Amino acid sequence: MSQIPEFKNYIGGEWVAGVDQRPNINPSDTSDVIGLYAQADAAQTEAAIAAAQAAFPAWASSTPQQRFDVLDAVGSELLARREEIGRLLSREEGKTLAEGMGETHRAAMIFKFFAAEALRCGGETLASVRPGVSVDVFRQPVGVVGLIAPWNFPIAIPAWKIAPALAYGNTVVFKPAELVPGCAWTIAEILSRTALTKGAFNLVMGAGSQVGQTLVDSPRVKALSFTGSVATGRRVIAACAARQAKVQAEMGGKNPLIVLDDADLDVAVNAAVQSAYFSTGQRCTASSRILVTEGIHDRFVDAVVAKLKTLKIDHALKAGTDIGPVVDQRQLDQNLRYVDIAKKEGGTLAFGGEVVERETQGFYQLPALITGTTNAMTISREEVFGPVANVVRAKDYDEALALANDTEFGLSAGICTRSLKHAAHFKLHSQAGMVMVNLPTAGVDYHVPFGGTKGSSYGPREQGSYAREFYTTVKTAYTFPG
Ligand code: NAD
Repeated sequence: MSQIPEFKNYIGGEWVAGVDQRPNINPSDTSDVIGLYAQADAAQTEAAIAAAQAAFPAWASSTPQQRFDVLDAVGSELLARREEIGRLLSREEGKTLAEGMGETHRAAMIFKFFAAEALRCGGETLASVRPGVSVDVFRQPVGVVGLIAPWNFPIAIPAWKIAPALAYGNTVVFKPAELVPGCAWTIAEILSRTALTKGAFNLVMGAGSQVGQTLVDSPRVKALSFTGSVATGRRVIAACAARQAKVQAEMGGKNPLIVLDDADLDVAVNAAVQSAYFSTGQRCTASSRILVTEGIHDRFVDAVVAKLKTLKIDHALKAGTDIGPVVDQRQLDQNLRYVDIAKKEGGTLAFGGEVVERETQGFYQLPALITGTTNAMTISREEVFGPVANVVRAKDYDEALALANDTEFGLSAGICTRSLKHAAHFKLHSQAGMVMVNLPTAGVDYHVPFGGTKGSSYGPREQGSYAREFYTTVKTAYTFPG
């Protein structure tokens, strides 16, 4: 039997063993152990925070060219190794290879975008209201930032936190999700070979209760960027606010997709199937709540079921697989529990929902479509985070819009229609942070802001040039030449 590779944490420019190790297991084949990854405790996390603090003066005063060179080099290497890293991503998270490679490509572009942002980040000069005085407004790095990521985008989410943090001159302690340390470690390894100041980037793998909580509570961590569940996010927000640290949290969704009578049926089916079920529905932007007007309802449901019947659910790395496995047993149990609740509350299982077996032992589930639901049912209110979507009938556009907004979440929302009037109205009146017309509800462009409203998000937006709101602090300087 070949030796299982071991991976260490990266602290202060050194590779450091943890206090324990955790196996990284392939959800497509649980006999495949990708590696044993170091697990830090609170003390090791504190050491990483200290390293980031020590590196801050040097990296904060680095030139835009130095920052560009580091981030651009990471982007170039991710692009060159897109297939290899995409394969690792698929192996540890369960996305198909095409999705894994696509996500790696996106991460590369994010690094390249923020490489150039380092050069673009300027301030402004204004005349004062007092004669002879001028006012400069400029941005400075915040300090040590803690970055906490979920498991469902193992490379894109780390990229969209690490790249802006470093681009604007901060130093970083990054904690990936327990289930997907492989891509995180790969980014750390690439960064370790760049000209980045030692200690400016630290990778600390381990449990949320140890590593995550230490980052949240440490007074030396000046800003905390979190993506994950609502339950954890709310605790993180409260703890950071209590000690006056900057905090940004991107959390769950119950994203509506409206399908109006005048929609192009193929466009609507494609948008629904893509956003509800691809990436195994494990997306915060998944359209898990589909609101369909009377005139198209039955045709739409029939067409979605017909499409779902054609999809191949199998090993993420197998050629021809459309949808890979669920990430682990706990998430699979949660998906099945929600399907069950939906049926008990009066929904009809129009397709799928059950566990299926494949050649390898993995967490395979057929995508579930539940019809005959109302917006008041549990399935319409709570995030499942799996390949499970429900359909709610709506009388007309007005009712569909009201239903779409009747949720505690506000991440993403979509509408399929050929009516310019309804599309324009929806873009204005949807309460979500990201709104799509005739497209899946995922927010994929890497150069524009990403984030939501209501219970889904807290703090400034991530991605695009808007990321600087979180990763910098504004200084106002008054000068009188004397
Ligand atoms: P999670 O909340 O369980 O974990 C997220 C991260 O927080 C992990 O790294 C975890 O170890 C860490 N953590 C756990 N306890 C902590 C604590 N006490 N202090 C600090 N950190 C702690 O979420 P998950 O299951 O990894 O991810 C799924 C969730 O993420 C879903 O709700 C999904 O909607 C959400 N998500 C949101 C976005 C977005 O941008 N809005 C994107 C992707 C995923």
